[in-house]
Amino acid sequence: MSLTDIKSLYKDELTELLVSRGQQKFRSQQIYSWLHSKSVTSFEDMTNLPGKLIEDLRSICYISVANIEKKLVSSYDNTIKYLFSFSDGEYVEAVVMDYRHGYSMCISTQVGCKMGCTFCATGQGGFTRNLTASEMLSQIEAAQRDLNIRISNVVLMGMGEPLDNFDNVVRFLRLATDSEGLSIGARHITLSTCGLVPKIYELADLGIPITLSLSLHAPTDEIRSRTMPVNKKYPLSEVFKACRYYADTTGRRVTYEYAMINGVNDSDDCAHQLAHRIKGTLCHVNLIPVNPVQGTGYNPSKDKRMTSFINVLSKYNVNATVRRTLGSDINASCGQLRGKKLKDKGGV
Ligand code: SAH
Ligand code: SF4
Repeated sequence: MSLTDIKSLYKDELTELLVSRGQQKFRSQQIYSWLHSKSVTSFEDMTNLPGKLIEDLRSICYISVANIEKKLVSSYDNTIKYLFSFSDGEYVEAVVMDYRHGYSMCISTQVGCKMGCTFCATGQGGFTRNLTASEMLSQIEAAQRDLNIRISNVVLMGMGEPLDNFDNVVRFLRLATDSEGLSIGARHITLSTCGLVPKIYELADLGIPITLSLSLHAPTDEIRSRTMPVNKKYPLSEVFKACRYYADTTGRRVTYEYAMINGVNDSDDCAHQLAHRIKGTLCHVNLIPVNPVQGTGYNPSKDKRMTSFINVLSKYNVNATVRRTLGSDINASCGQLRGKKLKDKGGV
């Protein structure tokens, strides 16, 4: 019999499990609080439970933990990058950023990714497995413990495509926003997607007011299909329609991520085409110089090119900013640290 992932359970599911083991309901509250508010990593730490109950829990459940395998601290801006491992030996990456208004963390949602974007280190490595809700929570808890801080903002922008792991991600969102748990405000959570259209509608209808970030990276289907294979299934017209629905339903401004790749998507012409598509909608554009990933042959756009691009957008009153690249000495984009670890071990 496989063990139950106890930290992925909602409180009512935990109660059900305990009652089925002949326990009293109030134990559920105690255990939930140990797991989600105090973030303990073993049943032995639940000091107000009788020994017999702890023994029973250990025989049917496990508590997921993210182990710190590597930790890199940027000498420029205190950005910290973690490589975490889980009990099956798989690795994911996460990044903690120190902003003036608190700590923000970028976490992973899958080991690898199926989407195959040509500029992305994670996409190049292929897909291994989905993360559970508890493994997403564990990344935050491990960083909070390690740094003795509280993470107040979370972005699902690490390895993986969150909407391709929809059920686990929704479970994570409900648990992470629970006031009896990590209590992270939904408005302080951002989910980034390559544009899985049906799931954007589903997310909008859930009524969890998180911010949606759409990885756009091209103004036309022709360019986008070359760099993001998902565009062949869900072309831009459908993606924009879904984003408008998201903004209308949630009242939240959609962010468009646009990695500027030298000579691929960074001409003034591209900027005009982009502006025509999104002007007048509730949105914001984040321009990021693409992080060069070995083997892709892509280079970041020059500063002058980026300035020119942004000037075109501003003529259409399209909100855009150049995102500062945090921790550029320690990272390059997510997926690169894991790739290196696999190489060290004689993997890909
Ligand atoms: N799968 C989701 C979230 C994870 S990727 C998505 O694609 O949105 C997080 C962000 O990093 C996305 O905007 C993605 O397009 C971007 N990204 C991936 N590789 C990059 C690179 N080499 N340089 C800059 N941004 C990159
Ligand atoms: Fe996957 Fe996002 Fe990377 Fe594309 S950019 S391969 S969707 S992680």
